[in-house]
Amino acid sequence: MSQKIETILSNFSEIELAFFYNYKLNTYSPSSQKVIKSYILRSGLSQGKIDELIKENEFVKSKDSPDKTCPRCKSNKLLKEDEEVYNGSSVAMLDNDSFRQDIEKIETKVCFVCGFNLTNNKSQGLFNRLFNKI
Ligand SMILES: [Zn+2]
Repeated sequence: MSQKIETILSNFSEIELAFFYNYKLNTYSPSSQKVIKSYILRSGLSQGKIDELIKENEFVKSKDSPDKTCPRCKSNKLLKEDEEVYNGSSVAMLDNDSFRQDIEKIETKVCFVCGFNLTNNKSQGLFNRLFNKI
């Protein structure tokens, strides 16, 4: 497990490591966090350097296609997944097929490095409805 994390991190740039550390560290288990912290320390990044990198790079405009890179950290390590939504609610808990005609399928695109959600504006209405239900 810990080796897998290090393999993933070895493909990260310094900037990606900084954003990953800042935004994703807390989403991992304490033992994984230890591995991530020690890897980042060994790569020569201090907390001060991480803060500096984030300040310099966060939401900086880039010439790259906005569809291919994360607007927050500029990484191209994006995860795509389909999410099924029923009337604004996740259908993960529903198993009755009669509901399925009302299901909308939306594609969510999330940055693996910083967790930023890049989902297109066209599904914004759906997300707002989802949000309003909470
Ligand atoms: Zn990102």
